[in-house]
Amino acid sequence: MRIGFIGLGNMGGPMALNLVKAGHEVAAFDLNAEACSKLQAQGLRIAPSAAAAAEGAQAVITMLPASHHVESLYLPHGDAPGLLAALPAGTLVIDSSTIAPASARKVADAAKARGLAFIDAPVSGGTAGAAAGTLTFMIGGDAATVERATPVLKAMGANLFHCGDAGAGQATKLCNNMLLAVLMIGTSEALALGQSLGLDPKVLSEVMRRSSGGNWALEKYNPVPGVMEAAPASRGYTGGFGTDLMLKDLGLAQEAALGTSASTPLGGLARQLYAAHSKAGHGGEDFSSILKLVTGED
Ligand code: NAD
Repeated sequence: MRIGFIGLGNMGGPMALNLVKAGHEVAAFDLNAEACSKLQAQGLRIAPSAAAAAEGAQAVITMLPASHHVESLYLPHGDAPGLLAALPAGTLVIDSSTIAPASARKVADAAKARGLAFIDAPVSGGTAGAAAGTLTFMIGGDAATVERATPVLKAMGANLFHCGDAGAGQATKLCNNMLLAVLMIGTSEALALGQSLGLDPKVLSEVMRRSSGGNWALEKYNPVPGVMEAAPASRGYTGGFGTDLMLKDLGLAQEAALGTSASTPLGGLARQLYAAHSKAGHGGEDFSSILKLVTGED
């Protein structure tokens, strides 16, 4: 399939490369020239603009930071008509960024009005899952579009879940990431307590991983440098899932909870802690660096 891919950051870069590996013809674009040249060197064809990447494409995929990036790319913005206006009817449009469910529905409605087939399909699995092509996709949209998108998504992921209508993929993702933040803070707290008691973080991590405290942070993403070679903590908290992106997701979860009667006290506290961590200058570091807030180290 001829695919236009927009947003080549920590996640989008490896996802686009996996599409190429699967035999798709990909034209890609990112505002960041450095990200583009790094991927071009790895065989990705770079287009000069988002519109050029999407030209002639049967499917367009976006992997952008937040709601406003997605809305301003697809929808009319200032004098710009927005990318949806440039796509021929019938084009498949997949947004895999994590954004507000309401924003996803807004783009879905605009896409439908133009005869385009849109799904929200945010992901889980981190940068390692993006590189390995083992991401989990949480999908919102109609069943026919999900079926059409399946071969494309399978080139980037191992698990596909159709969660409901437009916006349901994003709602699912917010619940997951709120839980992930709480687990990462709790894991950091337990490891910091262990270290203050003189325990070896490697031994303590392995015991908790195999005990009732076991969770994804201990399995794949240990926050203590040196415990897990492949984790962002062991490369100076770089190249993973940014603190500011987690802060965005926790804000979206709280915003979503406000619209319902759901009680999310730990999600609220997690947002406060990530906001303080970002304010202290760690917004660009991987979210597992929250360990520094817990230990008081700067
Ligand atoms: P990132 O900041 O590394 O990459 C985002 C890229 O989008 C940047 O390279 C930026 O230059 C580009 N961009 C922004 N506006 C653009 C535009 N208008 N046109 C073209 N390019 C534009 O972020 P990431 O870590 O790759 O995350 C992307 C999305 O995936 C976010 O919504 C994030 O919450 C979500 N996510 C990230 C992870 C992770 O582990 N990093 C995991 C799951 C989901």
